[in-house]
Amino acid sequence: MVSKRCYGLGTARSVIRELFEYGNQRAQEVGPDQVFDFSIGNPSVPPPQAALDELERLIRESDPLVLHGYTSAQGDRAVRERLAASLAARFGHGYGPDDLYLTVGAAAALCCVFHGLTEAPGDEFVVFAPYFPEYKVFIEGAGATAVILPPHVPDFQIDLAALEAVITPRTKGVLINSPNNPAGVVYTPQTLRGLGELLSRKSEELGRPIYLISDEPYREIVYDGTVTPWAPDFYDDTIVCYSYSKSLSLPGERLGYVLVGPQVAGREEVYPAVAGAGRTLGYVNAPSLFQRLCAACDGLTADLSIYAENRRLLTEGLGQLGYDTSLPPAGTFYYFLPTLEADDTAFCEKAKRLDLLLVPGSGFGAPGYTRLSFCVPTQRIQRALDVFARLAKEYGR
Ligand code: PLP
Repeated sequence: MVSKRCYGLGTARSVIRELFEYGNQRAQEVGPDQVFDFSIGNPSVPPPQAALDELERLIRESDPLVLHGYTSAQGDRAVRERLAASLAARFGHGYGPDDLYLTVGAAAALCCVFHGLTEAPGDEFVVFAPYFPEYKVFIEGAGATAVILPPHVPDFQIDLAALEAVITPRTKGVLINSPNNPAGVVYTPQTLRGLGELLSRKSEELGRPIYLISDEPYREIVYDGTVTPWAPDFYDDTIVCYSYSKSLSLPGERLGYVLVGPQVAGREEVYPAVAGAGRTLGYVNAPSLFQRLCAACDGLTADLSIYAENRRLLTEGLGQLGYDTSLPPAGTFYYFLPTLEADDTAFCEKAKRLDLLLVPGSGFGAPGYTRLSFCVPTQRIQRALDVFARLAKEYGR
């Protein structure tokens, strides 16, 4: 009667959502101060004041028929001009308005790319664990197959030999996410150089490009002077997917883009295919008001100092308690910690009994780890350290 696949997705349990709901329920039972929820990645700092000011200005000064009206399917042209100028000023490459397709967040950007590139069932996209679990849904939704590579521990950079071993004539693309949810790793220029060289060589062997899809919603959320390298600097055939959900703390406003730069091989087919996918999926015309706001605020960020302080507290506090904090996140607002027993699900269950809500790494393809979202009030971290201490004691630490 209905699509089995869609029914399955609609009824499947999401570990993160379940934990989040459980946390809300427990907060009602025992009080919100007694629950230490580190499950979900909802930004905890408000959007930058400049974005709020721009929002007010747009509402006050714009013609409402234009501001709330349909835009071009690929996004308002003036908006794309402004955004392309901002990207070109920051990263070079001479980006122009016709390189950008505005979308309903990074989720839609990725779906448009996977749909646009998939020619036939069995086409493959390589994904590196640990990975954002929705990737599999997006790729399979496009009729393609996700080829998941196991995590490269302990540094979570790319194992090029392992990648080379899974590239076949069916490989359409390779997906990267740096800064990475959940590992917090930022790929080094050396990693990206190696990746670019490998993909160039393999593309030449296949006689067609293998596209690199770079999902970058955390591009600006980095610490200790880390700079996220610009992936297209290392490989021409890179398609960038971006979102303002995290950088501007606007996840509910749903704005992002696909960037198919002028150096991308076959861009005259790739860009229309992405746009056509947007049509198929009914994603045309990203939210008009936020198109304008985000273009005006491109490159700005919410106050990252709060995340930096949370990260510092966790590194110091958990380190003193015997947790392995030797790889603090270089970016994002996620801490990826080795669990104190090999079974990460059992570890997170034990934590849950103490009302400490942590996500098992298995859900991201990395057993033996747990993800803590530290986009939470700093006080929650300060108070949670006692609970982490009780948990560590259960393991004799
Ligand atoms: N990619 C990654 C790695 C994410 O963590 C998320 C959201 O958490 C998304 C994509 C989707 O972001 P958006 O809110 O822009 O759809």
